[in-house]
Amino acid sequence: MKLYSKRAHELHELLVSKQVSAVELVNDVAARLEDVEPKVLAFVSQRIEDAKAEAARVDDKIASGETIGPLEGIPMAIKDNMCTEGIPTTCSSKMLHNFVPPYSATVVRKLNEAGAIMLGKVNMDEFAMGSSCENSWQEGTRNPWRLERVPGGSSGGSAASVAAGQAIFSLGSDTGGSIRQPAAFCGVVGLKPTYGSVSRYGLIAFASSLDQIGPFSRDVRDCAQVMNVIAGHDPLDSTSAPIDRPDYTSFLNKSIKGWRIGVPKEYFGEGIDAEVEEVLRKAMKTLESLGAELVECSLPHTEYALPCYYIIAPAEASSNLARYDGVRYGFRTEDAEDLISMFSKTRSEGFGEEVKRRIMLGTYALSSGYYDAYYLKALKVRTLIKQDFDRAFEKFDVLLSPTTPTVAFTCGDRLENPLQMYQSDICTLSVNLAGIPAISINAGFADGLPIGLQFMGKPFEEGRLLQISHAFEEATGCHSQMAPLKGGCEG
Ligand code: GLN
Repeated sequence: MKLYSKRAHELHELLVSKQVSAVELVNDVAARLEDVEPKVLAFVSQRIEDAKAEAARVDDKIASGETIGPLEGIPMAIKDNMCTEGIPTTCSSKMLHNFVPPYSATVVRKLNEAGAIMLGKVNMDEFAMGSSCENSWQEGTRNPWRLERVPGGSSGGSAASVAAGQAIFSLGSDTGGSIRQPAAFCGVVGLKPTYGSVSRYGLIAFASSLDQIGPFSRDVRDCAQVMNVIAGHDPLDSTSAPIDRPDYTSFLNKSIKGWRIGVPKEYFGEGIDAEVEEVLRKAMKTLESLGAELVECSLPHTEYALPCYYIIAPAEASSNLARYDGVRYGFRTEDAEDLISMFSKTRSEGFGEEVKRRIMLGTYALSSGYYDAYYLKALKVRTLIKQDFDRAFEKFDVLLSPTTPTVAFTCGDRLENPLQMYQSDICTLSVNLAGIPAISINAGFADGLPIGLQFMGKPFEEGRLLQISHAFEEATGCHSQMAPLKGGCEG
């Protein structure tokens, strides 16, 4: 039985009915992981033996008649920017290549307590800066649908491992699109929760006012199950919202009849590939057939999202990354004459090109004389973008857009041109600036490559996003395909 191609809720049934043991399950997924890893390159580190020991404990529990939770015994992967006690956490950077955290991120602790089994840590753009996974210190991950293409980024390893059957679900982080864009490119479900609904404690910071952790899964039900474990207030994160989380699975199998869906015109037309638009138009027809009303609307400040993001995110990054000085964490240069040259050589040797570019952009935007002109102005624009959404949500239940303007691009294609790379997130950035939740699900394919459909919702209404996504998924069956691992990358 190909257990690796199943979803967590199906596997749970098999475990509970004792048709499959947790050890068999971990063995099956681990064998798949090993088999396809030379092609996909999703993992930064693996812990298969420990995972097998954990699975044996789940089997003991089942054998003794205890009930197990929905994620208990389910193999998962964690993006390598979430701290895992005693397990290296590198952020795919030379700077942290030898960093072993003394504690686990809250999300990791919660998943451990829920009995999910981590097979390893997965690849990403260095410090989550990038849209293709090519900014990793190690080799870039490949897209399981077409191996010469990128999986998206920065959570490329999280998306690819789920699409390739190397993990049943995974966690990623999304600062400007890093969950939704790779989810779209790899044809899986990716949810960026409302800012504050999932704890950031133990997530290595990129841009603290934008970062959120969220799940990747092969269907919407699994996404809801993972949210049930990871969402909720955490006193260890001062930006965590003190609200009760709902049971996210209670939103599944519900009609969307009578829903009003806003379709912001700024997300269609120029800049969006015709094949993406065609699949999206078809998806809108499906939603209409399910009883929803689709109405064109406007988010007039959308065109400022990209410049606004690329001031705010680098500004926060330049501050957050000041801590990597060769003294407290990870890498230290071997070749320094004095303290100052140790700092500067450590930073110039330890960080990659994109990270250094962001630090310089951010430092510039925050420097005296430019602070008002750039940073303060960007904060004001951010408020205007948020207000666009507030106004739209007075009229609509959710908003719909493509997740990305194109399908997954070819490895190397955008590396030389940062501005072109930044364009990949044009449909996802506003959501982070506004702090609202958004989900990407597969809407169909163009020439064998997945195309993502994004729903954006009101703050803390992840449930509604899951409701409409589940209705769409049930109507189309787009979720049930495994990536074929075709093609190959040169070099
Ligand atoms: N691609 C965007 C960037 O490079 C978003 C990254 C992210 O969401 N972590 O900043």
